Amino acid sequence: MEAIKSSSITGLRNSPLEMTPEEFRSLGHRLVDRVAEFLASLPRRPVSPAESPLQIRALLGDSPLPERGTPAETLLDETAKLLMGHSLFNGHPRFWGFITSPPAPVGILGEMLASAINPNVGGWILSPVASEIEAQTIRWIAEMIGYPRDAGGILVTGGNMANMVAFLAARKARVTWDARTRGMAGEGSRRLRVYASAETHTWLHKAVDLFGPGLDSINWISAGSDQRIDTAELRKKISDDRLLGDLPFMVIGTAGTTSTGAVDPLPEIAAIAHENDLWFHVDGAYGGFAAMAPNAPADLRGMGLADSVAVDPHKWLYAPLDAGCALVRDRNALRDAFTQHRPSYYQLLQDAEQAVNYFEYGPENSRSFRALKIWLAIRQVGREGYAKMIGDDICLAETLFELVSAHPELQAFRQGLSIATFRYVPRDLTPGDAKTEEYLNDLNKAVLAALQKSGEAFMTNAVIGGAFVLRACIVNFRTALSDVQALPEMIARLGAEQDSKLRPAALQGSRAAAN
Ligand SMILES: *Cc1c(COP(=O)(O)O)cnc(C)c1O
Repeated sequence: MEAIKSSSITGLRNSPLEMTPEEFRSLGHRLVDRVAEFLASLPRRPVSPAESPLQIRALLGDSPLPERGTPAETLLDETAKLLMGHSLFNGHPRFWGFITSPPAPVGILGEMLASAINPNVGGWILSPVASEIEAQTIRWIAEMIGYPRDAGGILVTGGNMANMVAFLAARKARVTWDARTRGMAGEGSRRLRVYASAETHTWLHKAVDLFGPGLDSINWISAGSDQRIDTAELRKKISDDRLLGDLPFMVIGTAGTTSTGAVDPLPEIAAIAHENDLWFHVDGAYGGFAAMAPNAPADLRGMGLADSVAVDPHKWLYAPLDAGCALVRDRNALRDAFTQHRPSYYQLLQDAEQAVNYFEYGPENSRSFRALKIWLAIRQVGREGYAKMIGDDICLAETLFELVSAHPELQAFRQGLSIATFRYVPRDLTPGDAKTEEYLNDLNKAVLAALQKSGEAFMTNAVIGGAFVLRACIVNFRTALSDVQALPEMIARLGAEQDSKLRPAALQGSRAAAN
């Protein structure tokens, strides 16, 4: 290979990645046209491709690192086809799996604009407007959930990171020894204790593992049959731990559990945290933004009392992935958790009173312009638009719950926020005894797999009191009443098909009798 000499760079660089304005414009228009057609075609497409990892891998092939380039036009055409033909579409009106929303169209365009400017929102000097747009977005998010506008906050990748950032702020604020210098086992250290209901999302397992206290630091509190934390048990466990000499430091409430949408009694937990001088954190990754909806549970008001809250704009603000947001009432507590010294290479960062350098408020250093897609959507529809969309999602889940309750072959379980859970039960089977329950679990697993494979709609599952149930979570501004109305019959049909294949001989008799 010939050595590269600087003398070979004459005049314009002619870099292989560069595009002429004409080329960029023509490729961009072509891509936008394709995306517009794609969005319009979603209702006619299967929700999921039902292809295996091996099938998808085969599409990409196994060629070595390409030595030479491919024209961008060919690439973009091929890639659009690849993605549009083989993805699961959370933008589909019948996507109700996990908690994942369609991307707001203005957010799709915003992502392109953000990339074109490409500010690094780690330091103010690198991102003057973008840093201020992030700050304004955070203030608006605080207002949406009834939180103080002057709280500290930062956008992160999602609910997990937002909860972890809050966890670190709580740990920094409440640990009684110098953990920054001495670590978690420093002089004067005591066993930390954090309280959370058994329905808490798995971010907490990761947080206590990654950030020191370990899994044993979690004092799990039972959730009742309504999936809400048992506050009597919470009080008792805190005082028991105090007597043992442990250091209770944090209690977590969930504003909308992932499985069933249950909202913990947040005002009561706030009072318990206050009495016991604990940091009160609310995980509002799913349900936080429901506070804007007219039909929201009153307990969501307790978010306003928390020391920290995590919310997830890529869930109920319908922002394209990814975007989470951590809010901490005392902005200095957030900064203290992440700021120590300013290294020499950052000495010139603006120190002007108002300049926020986001690398000092969270774990990341270089940061993308996550705020723009959220900020644009908020400005496009306002609080009013979100109240309507979130309120409608909740109404549709209520309607679905009524429909399955009335259906002779479906058994309704729970409805919380925009989640409805239910299962298929053949007419001739009576749930209850162990053998029947075991079969119903197997049957409903098969029904769910068949539904996902069919591409007609997409749901996931929950487990409630040992029962495997189908779970529809409607965080989807495209879902219409007719989509929800179609679901019960779809499940009844798939249920009958699977039942005829899977019913064991021991449960066969009653079936024959019913036929
Ligand atoms: C979704 C969810 C999370 C995790 O959020 P990600 O955005 O997936 O990281 C945490 N807690 C609750 C209650 C959630 O629903």
